[in-house]
Amino acid sequence: AKAGGGTRCAVFDGSMHRAAMARLGLETDLRGAVAREELTLYFQPIVSLETGNVVAAEALARWSHPIHGKVPPDKFITLAEDTGLIGALGTWVLDEATRQLAEWRKDVPQAARLEMNVNVSPWQLRDGELVETVAATLGEHGVPAAALKLELTESTLVEDAARAAGVLRALKKRDVQIYLDDFGTGYSSLSLLHRLPLDALKIDRSFVGGMDGGTTGAVKGAEIVRTILALARSLGVRVVAEGVETHEQLAALRALGCDYAQGYLISPPLPADEFETSFLRREPP
Ligand code: C2E
Ligand code: CA
Ligand code: CA
Ligand code: CA
Repeated sequence: AKAGGGTRCAVFDGSMHRAAMARLGLETDLRGAVAREELTLYFQPIVSLETGNVVAAEALARWSHPIHGKVPPDKFITLAEDTGLIGALGTWVLDEATRQLAEWRKDVPQAARLEMNVNVSPWQLRDGELVETVAATLGEHGVPAAALKLELTESTLVEDAARAAGVLRALKKRDVQIYLDDFGTGYSSLSLLHRLPLDALKIDRSFVGGMDGGTTGAVKGAEIVRTILALARSLGVRVVAEGVETHEQLAALRALGCDYAQGYLISPPLPADEFETSFLRREPP
């Protein structure tokens, strides 16, 4: 039996009880969603501000509910976390994102060095099997570890910092990259950041959105972004700006020396085939 077995059983019993109470129709639906192949991944491009090229895709889960249509992840990821379904869901996401990456790297010449960002939930980090699952998935699909970036939020890491640091170091040892998601919204201390083997910070979109226009708020937003960039430099990590929606933001980020950008200005998350035609098969300008 694995170390996390006891916890998982407790979660499972709790969720079975709740299902028996039939209070959460959505929970029952989600339970079968993976098996019924209702889950899909959308992909949002991440561009290099230096070259303008798409260097990576962030995989974002969507649930095509037979009645409710496309359910966004903030609606079902929490539900999955609370009911223990996140284990199966997270493993599916990792497998599907890696499979798609392998296909693109093999079939599309322009995607030969494409990288993939995958979101990892707190539960997956605590589970004790993440390192093995990641290694097995990369091996199965023949993707080099350095092409996979796992995105974790600050709160995930703060919760059990010592354990998280251990898991991250084990992933780093295998060459997997670690990105700190929604940076600036959590409570991570500088000492924690120094101890974690991070490759990049993703500036939360609330700060990027605050960069525009001539208002006092905009000055503050730009100042926060500037400060995060300086911090990142001192830590020796790269920076991705999330939620870039205007040309003004993009120009300001480039001027400040931000490394990568992601947001609706470039593209919303897209189904795999649309991502491929729009960003991988496009002629270079
Ligand atoms: P996130 O990891 O911060 O992902 C970025 C979210 O911002 C995505 O929402 C994306 O569609 C949205 N976004 C991208 N560009 C813009 C922009 O320019 N403006 C605005 N306003 N929004 C933008 P989405 O796909 O609804 O995902 C929400 C959250 O759900 C994600 O936030 C992530 O925390 C979680 N999530 C999504 N897929 C997964 C998954 O496979 N596993 C786990 N554990 N969490 C996931
Ligand atoms: Ca598989
Ligand atoms: Ca993310
Ligand atoms: Ca984020």
